Amino acid sequence: MGVKAFLEATKTPGTVVLYGCPGEEGGAAKAFMARDGLWYGLDAALTWHPNDANEVLTGSSNSCIQTQYHFTGVAAHAAGDPDRGRSALDAVELMNVGVQFLREHMSDKARIHYAITDAGGRSPNVVQPRASVLYMVRSNHVAEAVELQKRVDKIAEGAALMTETTFEKKFIDGLADTVTNHALERVLYQNFQELGVPSHTTEELAYADQLSATYPGNDRLPGVGSQYDLDYAEQARALRTKAGHAMNDFLLPLYQGDAFEPGSTDVGDVSWQCPTAQIHVATWPNGCPGHSWQNVSCGRTDIGHKAALHAGKVLAAAAMDLLTQPALLEEAKAEFQRRTVAGYTCPIPADAVPVVAD
Ligand SMILES: [Zn+2]
Repeated sequence: MGVKAFLEATKTPGTVVLYGCPGEEGGAAKAFMARDGLWYGLDAALTWHPNDANEVLTGSSNSCIQTQYHFTGVAAHAAGDPDRGRSALDAVELMNVGVQFLREHMSDKARIHYAITDAGGRSPNVVQPRASVLYMVRSNHVAEAVELQKRVDKIAEGAALMTETTFEKKFIDGLADTVTNHALERVLYQNFQELGVPSHTTEELAYADQLSATYPGNDRLPGVGSQYDLDYAEQARALRTKAGHAMNDFLLPLYQGDAFEPGSTDVGDVSWQCPTAQIHVATWPNGCPGHSWQNVSCGRTDIGHKAALHAGKVLAAAAMDLLTQPALLEEAKAEFQRRTVAGYTCPIPADAVPVVAD
């Protein structure tokens, strides 16, 4: 809205689009939007995510594909008629064993997780006629994840063959890895520096300090760069010490070295279709674990609201620079072209619709 007002007031030509992006945690909305090509027309995309520090984010993330396998067998008395039963639970177990052997023969960065979502019932004396397993296949590059997924599908086929059961595959969602853009990161950093960081009242700081006493790791060093660069880690330590409380009320230095996040985000799919960059704004105390109740406890506080508003300011100010300084955008686009030569492989099939796992 700020950028729109700026464009109108200064009569600057340009278009700003605010995308509603539901289901960011597990729904992969931006990836479904990417499947339908919604990001290709943009000169640049800017976004933010809550975190424990104020920083410009960099680096790649894992691609991830979620698929649920529903096996169907034949129920029978496990003692009286075992020859007439076909166990769907056996199929799930054999599939898991097969995937276990696959793990030795995949890339180091790949990860395969599973959860048995239906074990077929509570009666050992009934051959289980149904069983389901939900798989997450992660690999650093989306094209690799798609290939790895095909190998997991073959194992499901093998398990069905061995147990004389059948299975149906339900595609849940898919996310690409993230393509970094250093040029955009620099524009975000400059604006973050100029605008500073949200400040907190004594009351808010006391709340954050109390919260930080409830989880291990509250002395962890903030910032993605701290995991990769010793000098950077020392700078982060000095800033933490100076802050003297649990909220990181400072901007971390710009880090543009190698970085990799084993988790996954649907920002990845956007980053394959247009130059994309992200910031973190301190929304909870230092070291607060992701997806924890302590995260949630900051969401509707003034700490959370300040972070959201401040993120909007930094993103808007950076967008204004991009709209008024074409050279910045050209640099970002040139870098985007270099980094996306391989092209976007969409992990989402053409006919898939967003669903929730059973
Ligand atoms: Zn998230």
